[in-house]
Amino acid sequence: MKKTAISDEWSVIEEGFDPDRHEASESLFSIGNGHMGQRANFEERYSGSSLQGSYIAGVYYPDKTRVGWWKNGYPEYFAKVLNSPSWIGIDVEVNGQTLDLAACPTENFRRVLDMKRGVLRRSFIATMADGAKIQVETQRFVSMARPEVGVVRYRLTALSNIRLKMVAGLDGHVSNRDSNYNEYFWNILETRAAPREAFLLAQTRKLDFQVGLAMRLCFEANQQAVEPGCIDTSEFAANAFELDLPRHASATVTKFGGVVTSQDHDRAELKAKACEVAASAEVSGFDMLLGEHEAKWAEIWSHSDIVIEGDAVAQQGIRFNIFHLNQTYTGDDERLNIGPKGFTGEKYGGSTYWDTEAFCIPFYLCTAPSRVTRNLLIYRYKHLGKAIENAAKLGFSAGAALYPMVTMNGEECHNEWEITFEEIHRNGAIAFAIHNYVRHTGDEAYLAEYGLEVLIGIARFWAQRATFSADKGKYVILGVTGPNEYENNVNNNWYTNTIACWCLDYAREALKKVERSSPGHFAEIVARTRLDNASETAQWTAISAGMYFPFDAQRGLILQQDGYLDKEPVTAADIDPAQRPINQHWSWDRILRSPFIKQADVLMGLYLFEEHYDGAFLQRHFDYYEARTVHESSLSPCIHTVLAARLGMIEKAYELYLRTARLDLDDYNHEVDEGLHITSMAGSWLAIVEGFGGKRVRDGKLCLSPQIPNGWRKYAFRLLFKDQPVEVTVTENDVTVLVKGPKPIVVAIWGEDHGLVPGKPLTIARKLAPDMLSVIRHDRAPATGEGAGHR
Ligand code: BGC
Repeated sequence: MKKTAISDEWSVIEEGFDPDRHEASESLFSIGNGHMGQRANFEERYSGSSLQGSYIAGVYYPDKTRVGWWKNGYPEYFAKVLNSPSWIGIDVEVNGQTLDLAACPTENFRRVLDMKRGVLRRSFIATMADGAKIQVETQRFVSMARPEVGVVRYRLTALSNIRLKMVAGLDGHVSNRDSNYNEYFWNILETRAAPREAFLLAQTRKLDFQVGLAMRLCFEANQQAVEPGCIDTSEFAANAFELDLPRHASATVTKFGGVVTSQDHDRAELKAKACEVAASAEVSGFDMLLGEHEAKWAEIWSHSDIVIEGDAVAQQGIRFNIFHLNQTYTGDDERLNIGPKGFTGEKYGGSTYWDTEAFCIPFYLCTAPSRVTRNLLIYRYKHLGKAIENAAKLGFSAGAALYPMVTMNGEECHNEWEITFEEIHRNGAIAFAIHNYVRHTGDEAYLAEYGLEVLIGIARFWAQRATFSADKGKYVILGVTGPNEYENNVNNNWYTNTIACWCLDYAREALKKVERSSPGHFAEIVARTRLDNASETAQWTAISAGMYFPFDAQRGLILQQDGYLDKEPVTAADIDPAQRPINQHWSWDRILRSPFIKQADVLMGLYLFEEHYDGAFLQRHFDYYEARTVHESSLSPCIHTVLAARLGMIEKAYELYLRTARLDLDDYNHEVDEGLHITSMAGSWLAIVEGFGGKRVRDGKLCLSPQIPNGWRKYAFRLLFKDQPVEVTVTENDVTVLVKGPKPIVVAIWGEDHGLVPGKPLTIARKLAPDMLSVIRHDRAPATGEGAGHR
């Protein structure tokens, strides 16, 4: 697959139409606004290969599970993000022939995703079978200012005299490519078309989600008054405009779409509401809607942009990632979350994974008001009951909570035993996100209000899941899958054991904090959870202190899991490049037997707990494990970038950064046609801010330790720390930090504390050589010996 050719700092640009890349481009040029999103499907008909995708946040379908061999405990369904009825379509006929870019040759085809303004534009000249030529220019956006509104403007200019027909409609005949049993997921309850407007009401065949779609149309053609014909079939409601268009004359359809759901409105009101949304959009008009939408994007960019000078490729990469993250999740609704593909494809079912806590939360914590992350945490809080039920189904008891690996509504909906039952480290990410939120925002009250109950449920799970090995005289965790999904059913995955102990310790710490700060809440939580504080926490301490961690003393090496050193002593460099990615070339059992690592596993633990290890220890592990990592999860390179930068390996860090930030733009993993890797896009942001910028939070303080990749003249990012905006600008020679909030704060820069006054930038010349830079305070001895864990 070809790379997106043109590097532009604010846009993604495609020139020339290549049907072989069409599905990839449909993903890359997707637009969304948190409430809904849309692959870059053409407005007009297209008979070539295309993945139709109109998605609405929170509207899903529990598709009946399909597996080869049923295992007890599997969920009954796999939740699917739904391809929903579409509001974008405008079919075009010229002299009775359908405009179809799979059949009509094009010239000057250009597609531009304007990331600054959140607008998708397309233009081309097409030649019809009879030789007639037309020129088309389209603009499309889904409003950031009015989440239920989407707008398309489609302008067609005749390059010879033509008879033109344009049919603009709402289409309910939609299906999911990944439907397990080729079923349709929608009932269309009503369609209605009147001049310049139409309505369609759809209902999911299970769960009764209802969606109301309305449109208002404006049709202009050189002052010609054209009365539309109304089309109203069981699944389609449209207007058809037909006219003679002389050479050089244009016809423009502006379509104002309203998309409302039963998530937000009463079912009985959906029709009225959708029509009202579309009508008021029409009254506001295209220019006003576009202006409001652009203003919202300007506001979003003002706190989330990263500027890179001297490297347009890197700049485009990071903006593309920040743009898509903001299109996917806006943080206004605690029922919503972030699917790995966002609104850009069907893969991963649009469900919630540990990706949110481990990768996206660090991004939203710094780039959006704290309520946005809080809503993501509350999403899990509200699913605590289901997580307890989920654990109970697997044989755990007494309030132990196992959050699902994949979920929409709190129920597990993934069915591969090695993931569903074994990839339990996800519980750790959920607990760690609470810690991350509290230390970053200073919102300690969150623990008493919501966090503590979740931590208790998670600690109870680990306490039951760890078992005592009489042989080892230690606690062990058997039969797991770590973050590296290229190993299944292993014993003592170091990362899992480490995060389990951390959760047990943090739950105890949180109990003590809440007992001190909110005795009333504490008593309520103890009663509600029936916590036997003394004996349960004593057990948590014993397990955490007595946990077994696989370690090779001779090499001074943490082992990914028991027996890892028995694997063939080869590295990723030994794999024939023609066999990469191995998951597309090797049998699954060959992958499992191999030493190759899909994504950061030991290194994920060292990333999270790096302050407990010294540079030599981190370096040894980075060298050993990165060499065996094939980075076949999109979540992999970013963690490695942060560690490489921490170790002063700036070129390696840069190479891995590009791989993260341009994963989709350059289609590293040959799969962008399926959709974009939205959750790993947060990793690109981490790569810059935590990697090159060296941002950490230690002892409640913001710490920075910036470096700059070769070739970058300057880079600048903004972050919110304890709700205060902080601007950081790094050049080859110095760093400037500006606090824009109301209060003075202390920021540690290259290890030294500086008191910063709002509005007064502080510039510090670089004092240290990059490989000596460290924000790390070695408050404990580096882990050595068999017991090397997170402590
Ligand atoms: C990764 C998981 C991740 C999932 C969704 C998988 O390929 O291995 O860690 O949660 O994708 O992004």
